[in-house]
Amino acid sequence: MSDGKDESFGGFDGDEAFSYGGDEADVCEGREEKQERNGRDQSKNKNRDRLKRFAERLKLALGKAARAFRDALFPPDITCDVCGEELTAQTRYRLCAECTEQLPRVGEHVCLVCGAPITDEADYCIRCQYEESAFLKNRSPLVYDGKARELIHKFKFGGKKYIAQTLGAMMADEYLKRGMHAEIAAIVPMTHAEEKSRGYNQSELLANEIADRLKLPLLPALVKTKDTASQKKLTGKERAQNLKDAFTCTYIQVKGRKVLLIDDVFTTGATANACAEALIKAGAREVCVLTAAVTKRKIPVESNDGKTAI
Ligand SMILES: [Zn+2]
Ligand SMILES: [Zn+2]
Repeated sequence: MSDGKDESFGGFDGDEAFSYGGDEADVCEGREEKQERNGRDQSKNKNRDRLKRFAERLKLALGKAARAFRDALFPPDITCDVCGEELTAQTRYRLCAECTEQLPRVGEHVCLVCGAPITDEADYCIRCQYEESAFLKNRSPLVYDGKARELIHKFKFGGKKYIAQTLGAMMADEYLKRGMHAEIAAIVPMTHAEEKSRGYNQSELLANEIADRLKLPLLPALVKTKDTASQKKLTGKERAQNLKDAFTCTYIQVKGRKVLLIDDVFTTGATANACAEALIKAGAREVCVLTAAVTKRKIPVESNDGKTAI
């Protein structure tokens, strides 16, 4: 301490000046008083230091507790599933504000069958005007485009299994929002070879999340018995042909039940249709489909054989 007050301790001060020039007894008394006062001041200083140290320790401890509390509410290692930015506030889905805003969502007006957004006042998209489906309807929270495509690619091909939580939460919300009702949930299965090559079945991960949230019993009702070529470059009809008899339903529990079929993306509907056919064949009363994203419907073009391709 370098302030004047502290420097005066043990040195020449006013009290000493006052006692200077008195008799010896007075001098001794002055010294004793001074020693006593010094002792008091020193112990006061010690107490003050102890209090200061205690306050500092308390401040550190409170800071630590506050951080622990904040971290419990908003864990620091939780990042946006799309862009990887750290999330600084609690969010309904694990997405930052920017990605939430940019995520293409299916609006209010959708095709009554496939759930694709349609802009006009029609009830059905072009696909569903021309095609019969074994399932009653599909509903998806997202349009398979932009950041939604990015998110699903990370989940499906990038090994980011944890994304099932975000997508599953969105799908469960969509199910409730659209007033869907099912008695059991079923997964779009993969063959052993397909699952081995990817390491996991993305539909199963989504189905686990959704069944938990909606309290639906989840059954491995379907089995994929035929390895099918990649569907990516096939047209709707080719996809349907590719998937013909690829699935069988082995569970008697589906009989008379309303089944919710869960998958990642609804593209042409060929997979959903093949699965729904197998479930209906096994006695399911009704099959509805819930997918994370639905592709936009394309404008119909005339194909070489004069038929309308979608
Ligand atoms: Zn983000
Ligand atoms: Zn449609």
